Amino acid sequence: MLDLSKYTKQLSNLLTSSENILLVCHINPDGDAIGSQLALYQYLKTTGRNVNMLSPNNLQEFLKWMDGAEIINIFIRDREECKKLIREADLIIMLDFNQSNRLGEAEKFIINSRAFKVIIDHHLDPEDFADLIITDPSRCSTAELLNDIISNIHGSQFLNTPYAVAVYVAIITDTGNFEYGTYSGDTLRTVAGLLDYGIERDEIFNRVYNNFSEDRMRLMGYALDKRMVIIPEYKSAYIYLTKKDLTDYNYVKGDTEGFVNLPLSIKGIVFSTLFIEKENNIKLSFRSRGKFPVNEFASLYFSGGGHLNASGGDYYDSLENTIAYFMKVLKENIWQLKY
Ligand code: 5GP
Ligand code: MN
Repeated sequence: MLDLSKYTKQLSNLLTSSENILLVCHINPDGDAIGSQLALYQYLKTTGRNVNMLSPNNLQEFLKWMDGAEIINIFIRDREECKKLIREADLIIMLDFNQSNRLGEAEKFIINSRAFKVIIDHHLDPEDFADLIITDPSRCSTAELLNDIISNIHGSQFLNTPYAVAVYVAIITDTGNFEYGTYSGDTLRTVAGLLDYGIERDEIFNRVYNNFSEDRMRLMGYALDKRMVIIPEYKSAYIYLTKKDLTDYNYVKGDTEGFVNLPLSIKGIVFSTLFIEKENNIKLSFRSRGKFPVNEFASLYFSGGGHLNASGGDYYDSLENTIAYFMKVLKENIWQLKY
């Protein structure tokens, strides 16, 4: 685990000496990205700092209810306001990602800004686009790491309810409610603290997980019945969804969240891929069980990245060609799936 003591002082100094702090999450933010952003926002607010938040694109429904989510500036919606915030910031803290292309259309503005840039993250192999990188891949979530950093600086454990809820949402979403990911005894001790603090565990679970539409449920059924391909000899499975499939089921952002995990519950399947046909590209999500490093697979073949067992990437070709290319590179890597 990362020794935080050497970062605490430097970060604490940065937080108190900066005039305008901007907190930035990654494109298509997940629960950890938003949870970390909101937790740090709560902390900085209570210490009287001037702080703003930015997301490259919109939040999904299952995160919009969180305290403070409504004041996150969305780059693709309010470009001018966001560019102004970036220009005025003297400290930019980027949360839950370590590749600059995860900033989407905000990338060049943030990279070129004069602000001191910090990354707080838990993914492997950070790119070098910040002045200070605090990263610990042994953590289940950025929020778990951030919570320890804030506790070190602040002295007390949980600041207020919105803070505690944000940390909890980040931990449950990045571990699939404690199903996967690198969660540890320390994670569960943090969670124990959150429960003792009095967060409404069941209510949060319902807001995050039992919040989907009928259309989404039917799309899931269709995806499993008609669009799932099992390749037993490769211990692999994939699901693909065309633009038309999504339109037919009145797709809204977030509806395919979690689909990629489903084939992994089939006996013998250790590698699962989801292909989603977008306007100009195919978005891929990868999940594995065991040692197959899907982050390396994503970064080598699909200009993506992520974690050992959960990653994603993009490919700029037709769905058909993308699947053919995928099958070719899967074949080349099949030896890795033989563990
Ligand atoms: P998901 O499949 O849920 O979209 O993403 C799973 C994980 O893979 C994310 O938490 C993130 O770490 C990583 N990931 C997904 N898409 C991309 C991508 O396009 N680029 C990179 N670098 N990582 C991605
Ligand atoms: Mn994360």
